Amino acid sequence: MLPVCEPLLAGNELRYVTDAVSSGWISSSGSYVTAFEQAFAAWCGVAHGVAVCNGTVALHLALVALGVGPGDEVILPDFTMVASALAVCHTGAMPVFVDVDPATWNINPLVVEAAVTPRTKAIMAVHIFGTPCDMTALAAVAVRHGLELIEDAAEAHGATFQGKKAGSLSRIAAFSFFANKNVTTGEGGMVVTDDPKLARACRYYKNLCFPLDAPRDYRHAHIGYNYRMSNLHAAIGLAQTEKADDYTTLRVKNGRLYRELLAEIPGVRLQAAQPGGGAVHWMNGMVVTSEYGRTRDSLMAHLKIRGIDSRLFFNGMHRQPALERYGCQCAGAFPVSDCLADGGLYLPSASGLTESDIRRVCQVVREHGRS
Ligand SMILES: *Cc1c(COP(=O)(O)O)cnc(C)c1O
Repeated sequence: MLPVCEPLLAGNELRYVTDAVSSGWISSSGSYVTAFEQAFAAWCGVAHGVAVCNGTVALHLALVALGVGPGDEVILPDFTMVASALAVCHTGAMPVFVDVDPATWNINPLVVEAAVTPRTKAIMAVHIFGTPCDMTALAAVAVRHGLELIEDAAEAHGATFQGKKAGSLSRIAAFSFFANKNVTTGEGGMVVTDDPKLARACRYYKNLCFPLDAPRDYRHAHIGYNYRMSNLHAAIGLAQTEKADDYTTLRVKNGRLYRELLAEIPGVRLQAAQPGGGAVHWMNGMVVTSEYGRTRDSLMAHLKIRGIDSRLFFNGMHRQPALERYGCQCAGAFPVSDCLADGGLYLPSASGLTESDIRRVCQVVREHGRS
């Protein structure tokens, strides 16, 4: 079975992990943590990186550093992974969903402005599937209303907008290093920012609010979190960062070939490019329309028979019982998000796919539609 995604661990991962184990430094106090933070932040083009144990808490920590809390609202796309919204809930703030752009599938700047209220504190830009958001338009709305802008860059390692990398396109950004992401530590995450005050706040809150400079007297002034990353994960992360340019190139090349081959198949809709953006194609998704002649579910079943794994798209946030129960406004109309959730699937997208893998997948998609 051709999997949807599997990590590529082709560099110094084993060497660095072995080194960490041999040295006895396996906790978050080991030196790979700082080395990984500096290397990954530099790769993104930002000054500071704060490593944490997954992408969800990276988002939470970034929101905490910005001062987001109870009584605040955060505007985010309806079509995203649930962690984007849950991180907002974890601060006590209220997620507010807006529909996505029918072409890029990213948060639609045109509808963001209409969702701003006196309680709005921040806009969360999620670069979905590795296609960057229109950060110019989002920044304009943020500035007009005095809002913070934050990136959920969990799917966008190496994506660019106007020549700048994801993670450097807002005041603060969060990455995930889950096993299927473009850069991985198995489980892991990082907050990146140019702002030394925000970086300090993240370091403080991620470690139970132990004082950063003063000697420890085991008295804590704030409610902190244990979001630390272990040295073993950071060792893998450093090795991955050394290869991050290669992984980006592979993802981009695979995405191009998919687009070229799928674009010719009637009834297959693809994610459009963002003008000014360089997509990294974390996942190659497609939406099945009526013109295809078969349903999405029938295509997925056929792919499986032919030894090709695929996955459903996310369900929109307004369809999440947990978020409705939390008090989110889920009753609105989200036609684009619904259309993606009901017709979308991901095709195999690992960095290590070969050209013949991709040609075979596209051939199976093509033949099923015709027959
Ligand atoms: C993967 C992902 C996350 C969460 O990252 P974890 O490391 O799994 O916690 C958040 N947002 C988006 C858009 C993601 O794809």
